[in-house]
Amino acid sequence: MGLPSTSRRRPLMTDDSDAALTIIPRDAHNVSRRDISPNALRVLYRLRESGFGAYLVGGAVRDLLIGGHPKDFDVATDATPEQVRGLFRNCRLIGRRFRLAHVVFGREIIEVATFRANQPVDDDVEAHEVEQVVRDNIFGSIEEDAVRRDFTANALYYSIEDFSIRDYVGGFEDVQARVLKLIGDPERRYREDPVRMLRAVRLSAKLDFTIDAATAEPIPRLASLLREAAPARLFEECLKLFLSGHAVQSFLGLETHELLPVLFPEAAAALRSNRSGALRRMVLKGLADTDARVAADEPVSPSFLFALLMWPAYCRALARLQADGVNAPEAQQRAADRVTLHQMDVIALPRRFSLPMQEIWLLQTRFSQRQRRRVFRLLSHPRFRAAYDFLVLRLTASDEHRGDVEFWREAQHHPDAAVESAEAAAPDAETSERPRRRRRRRRAGGAE
Ligand code: ATP
Ligand code: MG
Repeated sequence: MGLPSTSRRRPLMTDDSDAALTIIPRDAHNVSRRDISPNALRVLYRLRESGFGAYLVGGAVRDLLIGGHPKDFDVATDATPEQVRGLFRNCRLIGRRFRLAHVVFGREIIEVATFRANQPVDDDVEAHEVEQVVRDNIFGSIEEDAVRRDFTANALYYSIEDFSIRDYVGGFEDVQARVLKLIGDPERRYREDPVRMLRAVRLSAKLDFTIDAATAEPIPRLASLLREAAPARLFEECLKLFLSGHAVQSFLGLETHELLPVLFPEAAAALRSNRSGALRRMVLKGLADTDARVAADEPVSPSFLFALLMWPAYCRALARLQADGVNAPEAQQRAADRVTLHQMDVIALPRRFSLPMQEIWLLQTRFSQRQRRRVFRLLSHPRFRAAYDFLVLRLTASDEHRGDVEFWREAQHHPDAAVESAEAAAPDAETSERPRRRRRRRRAGGAE
């Protein structure tokens, strides 16, 4: 049953070659069933018992080969999505054009994809034709499925039949050599999907693989194609780049391959014009802290991450507005809004993250205040902790705020004592409330 997996051989790549199969037998590789999720094994065996081809594929095989722990296990098969659904009660089909089966086991989802060829479907085919078109043009052989993947390391198939690995693209050797190599002509593959440039940087950071010279070469040239990618997809990709425990390496990779100016145009420009390198040091320190938190299984937040990555842009916008004579509170709000708005052109940062991000920036000036009421108000602000952590991080760039950091470190634990010693240290300091005009304006800004 299922689709024939021995379809006629035809040239699958425009350049170098036909896909030639190498089989790596069980005794020649280290992928063991012990390291595969029991649920994935269940799916593989059930497909196999029902007469279908069943393979573990993609990132999981690659990660197991280098001794890693895959975070998810994907399965590829010649069974159609409907046939897969017929085999599992806990199965739902997702996606319209490329239907995938999700087999759900509590919190674990095993994604089961039918082998697929790379032919694009015409978007205006009639609905009733879709099924036929899908069968004819999207589903494919295992060889076609292999060559439509991105990197050779991601195109290995672990067979549940004999526990061998099927390699149509030389991926096994590349994994051993720890190199990321695009399948086919790199420029064509990037033009097909520019996000592959980010995937190259991300996977090389995550796996500690080098990017093959021919795969790396076109990236700076084609970097601007990323502007055509969907901003929501770029947001997701950014989270994977920076919140998976390899943020520093990812950032350095984006710099090396000249992708940073495309992803974060204003921040990259601000970093370039910051001659002392202080802001770049701060960003790298913040990313290193993020990596440490991920390693310790502590939570990390997209708001804080983007506050960090876009801080150089915010500082620059703020300095320009103030140089133009805009007063401080007004300039802060406008700089925050402007920088956020411009960044949205590239990366769709949802409001639930962009608003807290802006609060982290806008709270920074309030750390210089020592009046009792203001101190207590800031301490109870929902974003206090994030903003304080950000203030601490700013020490990497400048020592200017060391006094503030010390005051607020103390104030978190002993607010009364902190305020009293601040008052004693500066008895002439302004103790009354600021003019009401200013407070009103800040509130209006925050509500925008
Ligand atoms: P990770 O460990 O980060 O999940 P991954 O390689 O598993 O890495 P996924 O995004 O989960 O990445 O994709 C699963 C598989 O789908 C990949 O291994 C690859 O074979 C294929 N794939 C993913 N994105 C692309 C793409 N843009 N172009 C071609 N193939 C892709
Ligand atoms: Mg994956």
